[in-house]
Amino acid sequence: MDYQVIADSYEKIEATTKRLEMTDHLVELLEKTPKEVIARVVYLTQGKLYPDFVGIEMGVAEKLAIKALIRASGASEGTIQAELQKSGDIGETAEKQLSKRKQSTFFSIKLTVERVYETLDKLAKTSGGGAVDTKMALLSSLLTDASPKEAKWLIRTVTGNLRLGIADMTVLDALAIAYGGGKEARQKIERAYNISSDLGRVANVVACSGIEGIEKFQVMVFEPIRPMLAERLGVPEEILDKFGGKCVVEYKYDGERVQAHKSGDKVVLFSRRLENISSQYPDVVSLIKEQITAKEAIFEAECVAMDLETGDMRPFQELMHRRRKYGVEEAIAQYPTSLFSFDLLFVDGEDLTQQPLPQRRKKLMQIIKPNNRLNVATQKTVTNTKDLEDFFEEAIEEGCEGIMCKSAGKDSVYQAGNRGWLWVKFKRDYRSEMTDTVDLVVVGAFHGRGKRVGTYGALLLATYNPDEDTFETVTKCGTGFTDVDLAKLYEMLQKHVVPRRNSRVKSTLEADVWFEPSVVLEILGAEVTLSPIHMAAMDAVRKGSGMAIRFPRFTGKYRTDKSPQDATTSKEIVEMYNAQLKKIGDTAP
Ligand code: ATP
Repeated sequence: MDYQVIADSYEKIEATTKRLEMTDHLVELLEKTPKEVIARVVYLTQGKLYPDFVGIEMGVAEKLAIKALIRASGASEGTIQAELQKSGDIGETAEKQLSKRKQSTFFSIKLTVERVYETLDKLAKTSGGGAVDTKMALLSSLLTDASPKEAKWLIRTVTGNLRLGIADMTVLDALAIAYGGGKEARQKIERAYNISSDLGRVANVVACSGIEGIEKFQVMVFEPIRPMLAERLGVPEEILDKFGGKCVVEYKYDGERVQAHKSGDKVVLFSRRLENISSQYPDVVSLIKEQITAKEAIFEAECVAMDLETGDMRPFQELMHRRRKYGVEEAIAQYPTSLFSFDLLFVDGEDLTQQPLPQRRKKLMQIIKPNNRLNVATQKTVTNTKDLEDFFEEAIEEGCEGIMCKSAGKDSVYQAGNRGWLWVKFKRDYRSEMTDTVDLVVVGAFHGRGKRVGTYGALLLATYNPDEDTFETVTKCGTGFTDVDLAKLYEMLQKHVVPRRNSRVKSTLEADVWFEPSVVLEILGAEVTLSPIHMAAMDAVRKGSGMAIRFPRFTGKYRTDKSPQDATTSKEIVEMYNAQLKKIGDTAP
């Protein structure tokens, strides 16, 4: 397959902001793609070579890309830098320079997708001494044979600047139309994705074996299942009503979510974002090998920092010391952890995701040999608000964040990749004067003054809108940051600075600095209000108004376990606003 076909599609996709048109272009591309390379094409359209959980990234720094461009175009570094300054886009710079190139490429070979993919794969896997030179040579070999348009997209791909805004869900829509017989097939295809997290494998199966293939799609150990998520409610009566008067309640532990995969002696741990975090937790890996009796299993647990001497849980912040590459052994000794398992998704060849929760829990208890480091989550069945509230108090007393209330009915399946009403979280924050905490994405910043010169004075924060795949501003926050936070944030955000507002960021405010949406922070607000300035859920409650969070304060929690797409959604903010109105209504005389 010619790489030119991909480049042409990217051009069309870039030119539209409408999701439907984007889907049409993607459908056209997927239909033109031979089945043998469809997985690769799908990964490439997302700027990747593999699904995220494999953890292989292209990671070509701009500096290296410039060197490769110098070699391929014959232009001087000065010319390229000047052009880059002007356009702010390395892709456009490459296109321009290569179009000026003399016709020495007369004998150049046409780029194929296969060659591009294999070269980029080699490049991604090159490490150690001399890696920079090897990577540069590989990239320039592609650029030398590339047309200017191809070069633009190649270089954007390797430097992580593809920014086509093709969300996973758009790919699923396009696959349903191209190979599933129409949009109706989307649900089945989405399920395959939710249980594998691998869009390439899904694309390959649907392209080669159609919907029948998708129906037979299996959960596989070491392919992470996209996590089931909870809705939230702040009033115990409402929670019980939701579940028809009866539900199970579990401690909501305040740690890091871990999805553990075990097959024989091999154990892999995935984070909430489905990254492989096994190397951070070698102690947990050994624990699972010893205490899980099943040969094969996929289960979910909360990993919590513990004081093993007293058996007390420690705050979430302590666990963050375990997020490191070096000094892991010392961190294990200093910050020991325990696992509290709350779900079993697969055991010895059997997919449990479609079974009701009580059945999954029963099997979970059968495969765990409990000790002080590994146990099942504390659970109880409740049928009245008093018991629910008592259990909540007990959970808080034990050092938890609150409770999870879960359906135990026949339909209480594991809804992979979905936030739904089968799980409802009830946290302490809801009960205080303040509203709930939210997880917001940093999209912009304002320079600091006075004491804060040299760092950011305030951050512009956004919610995520999954329907449009956009980030919508909801508040400006300058409170709750210590000096250490300010310095740390400045450094963290440096690598995400972009020259102008990303088209996926919706804002009427002009920030001093714009960022690629990347960093997620936990924010506690006093109130959700309608706003003429902010863009979150624009028009949803009132025409011409968005939603804003008043008196925002950083809680100190960096949600590095969340990707920007996992941030609080604009819809959730509307729900919080409505819940608030209800509360005021309840207490009004
Ligand atoms: P939050 O910011 O409240 O943690 P979230 O968006 O990360 O929310 P939610 O699905 O809303 O995720 O809340 C569920 C989270 O609570 C899970 O991701 C998991 O990490 C944690 N948790 C702790 N105890 C349990 C439990 N018993 N059952 C399910 N999840 C639990």
